[in-house]
Parts: sequence; C-alpha cells; structure tokens
Amino acid sequence: MTDFDVIVLGAGTWGSAASWQLASRGHKVLALDEFHPPHMMGSHGGATRLARQSNSSGPAYIKLTESAWSLWAEISKAAAEDILVTTGSAFIGEPGSEWFDKTLSNLKLSTFEYEVLDQSESKSRFPWVKTRPNELTVWEPNGAIILVEPAIRSLQKLASEKGAKFNFNEKVIEWKSTENGVVVTTTAGVYRAKKLVITAGARSSKVLGTELPVDVERQVLVNFKVPKGHAALPALFFAAPAGDSALPAYGCPEPDGTYKFSFATRADIIDPDTISQKVSEGDFARVRDILSERLPQLDGEPASYAVCMWSESKDGHWILGNHPKEPNVVIGAGCTGRGFRYAPVIGKALADFVEGIPRDDLDTFAIGRIPFHASEK
Ligand SMILES: Cc1cc2nc3c(=O)[nH]c(=O)nc-3n(C[C@H](O)[C@H](O)[C@H](O)COP(=O)(O)OP(=O)(O)OC[C@H]3O[C@@H](n4cnc5c(N)ncnc54)[C@H](O)[C@@H]3O)c2cc1C
Repeated sequence: MTDFDVIVLGAGTWGSAASWQLASRGHKVLALDEFHPPHMMGSHGGATRLARQSNSSGPAYIKLTESAWSLWAEISKAAAEDILVTTGSAFIGEPGSEWFDKTLSNLKLSTFEYEVLDQSESKSRFPWVKTRPNELTVWEPNGAIILVEPAIRSLQKLASEKGAKFNFNEKVIEWKSTENGVVVTTTAGVYRAKKLVITAGARSSKVLGTELPVDVERQVLVNFKVPKGHAALPALFFAAPAGDSALPAYGCPEPDGTYKFSFATRADIIDPDTISQKVSEGDFARVRDILSERLPQLDGEPASYAVCMWSESKDGHWILGNHPKEPNVVIGAGCTGRGFRYAPVIGKALADFVEGIPRDDLDTFAIGRIPFHASEK
C-alpha cells in the first residue's frame, strides 16, 4: 500500500489538468489511467479540438474563457509546446436560430473581438463557404484550435516535473472511503490517499457506481482532403435553422493538412464500454451531406475518421464539485462537447475543491443542481 495526498482517477484531459494543478500546489499526486492518454477510448480522441472564445451556453463561461486562454499560454510556454493555434473561427446561422442567437448575445457581454458579416461580406471573405439565405457570419479572429496530443502531454509533463506520478494502463477496479481518506484498488496495486479526484470522463457513472445525470453520446469525426492551393480554412460552425434544436455542424483544419468535419448528435447514446472505431455508411452520409452543401470543394472520399464520445448532463453544463456523500471525493464529469478548451480552468477548480476553497463562481456547474443518485456507493 502506497500513500499519496491525492489520487486522480482518470488521467485524460481533465485528470491531467487536475494533476498539474495539484502537483504545482505541492500535493503528492498519483494519477491512474486504464489506458495511456492521449488515446481513442474516451472523450479526447483525434488531433484537434475547436476553441472559439464565444459560447452558446451562457455568461458563466466568459470569465472561464479568459482564464483558459491565459492558462494555455502559460502551459504552452512552460512546456515549450504549441497548443492553442489561432485559425480564426466563423459561426454561421440565421438570426432566430437558438445557437446563433446565444453565440451573439454571449459575445456582446464579453470583451472578445468579433464582427458580424452580412451575406455579401461573408461571400467576399470566405467565397468557398456556402451560406443559406438570411444567414449571417460571426467572425472571431482569435478563434483557435487546440492540438490534443501536445496539450495532454504538456499537462502531464508539467505535473510530473512537480512530482506527480502517472501510472498508465492500470485500471481502477474499486475505491472505498476510509475514516481519513480513500483506498483505491487497481489491476496492479492498492493505494491510499487523503483525497480522490474522479475524472473518468464517459466512464464516470461506472466508476462512481451510480447513474450520473448524463448521457454518453457517440460522435463521428471525418477528415477530408483539402485541394492543393486552397485558401487557409478557419474553424467553422453551422447552426441549425430557427426552430430546429439540432446541434451545430462544425469543422477545423488539422495538422496533417486535412479538414476535420462533424455533425454533432444527441441521438447516439451508448454504453461507454462499447466504444469502437467502426463507422457505418450512415455515419459518413450524415457528415458528408452537410459538408457537400457547405464546403462542396472538400467533398470526396474521407481521408480518415475517428469515433469519440462525450457525456452531456441534462442541462448541458459540467458537473464539478465535492461528492454529495463522500467528503474526500471530488468529481469532474459531464464534459460535453466544449470541455477541452477549458481543461486548465477545470483542473484549477478541481484542485480548489480538494483544498476546500469555495468557488461560488462555479454554481452553474454545482453537483447538487440536478438529482444525483449516490446511494449505491
Ligand atoms: C467528438 C468530440 C468533439 C469534441 N470537440 C470539442 C471541441 O471542439 N472543443 C472543446 O473544447 N471540447 C470538445 N470536446 C470535449 C472534450 O474533448 C472533452 O470535454 C475533454 O476531452 C474532457 O475529457 P475528460 O477528461 O472528461 O475525459 P477523457 O479525456 O476521456 O479522460 C477520462 C479518462 O479516464 C480514464 N478512465 C476511465 N475509467 C477508468 C478506470 N476505471 N480506471 C482508470 N482510468 C479510467 C479513461 O481511460 C480516460 O483516459 C469534444 C469531445 C468529443 C467526443
């Protein structure tokens, strides 16, 4: 049995960020993962994540965005890695469309740079994007992409430099609260710590032994070749029309020169243990239909693809805070499709919860806001 101050269960995106924060504050940290992140078995699979500064989820994210951008810059410098790459980002939709209106109202409350382009201005700047009648384009020059592998590698490197120990390919099979902390049993050993942070991503309900109020949703990302000599493509979002609650389609340039495109869905709810990289003709058709309408010059055989899953809470916000029944356990779950760009601020928040530092600014994400059935554990 080995002793630590904090065990982080799940060393993916959020777990690596929490380990970095906790180790930086002097805690003796053990981070455990069933696989070796980055990998394709969770929520961070693939080369990139989009990082627009705007949000369609409310004002609570504005300050978090400001902090995330400056923390990524700090991490990037300390680890000597490029992480956040500015591409610009365009959000296209018609006024009255839920996602478009929320994006614009969010930007109006922020200090982020943006412009609203009408049809002719949008056509002259982005002649290769097909817009529908009545659609406007919200252009954010500081919109970016995040490089997944360097981001996770950097968080782990900085955490390790501060003494955190990462045990990969070691699955947690059980955890138990004790009088003074927790005991965690893995496929390779038994560890004791004063505190446990659970950042098990899509497997959080399984690890917690309870049904968190989240759905695990399968998503398919397809990469398309970009014709030689094509103008640089920014990150793009396409909102569903007014009255249609579908999630936006989106895409971004990738480091290998292809363009990643996806049409997010809430309809493909899965058991996270069934995740596989298999895709069907229907999966491709769903993405290609919208791509061929919006970016017809990219329509062709997919160059590559990836299957990934995110977990979405009933109100769309993350679940962050102390376990309602286990005083030594902190939870970071319900990552949604926007959890990557906020990883450093989430890592900071989880470390604050471990240290008992109140975070009233994070009430939107409080565990107690939606029913949580912790009785089984
Ligand atoms: C298709 C897709 C597109 C996305 N696009 C964006 C985007 O454009 N912008 C953005 O900001 N965010 C985006 N996201 C969300 C973002 O990727 C996630 O919010 C982020 O990766 C947070 O992940 P996490 O740490 O919760 O989970 P993960 O990174 O999956 O980490 C969880 C870890 O826990 C480990 N684990 C689970 N169970 C155990 C166990 N029993 N024992 C040991 N280890 C265990 C897993 O192996 C895994 O490594 C997207 C997500 C998906 C799926």
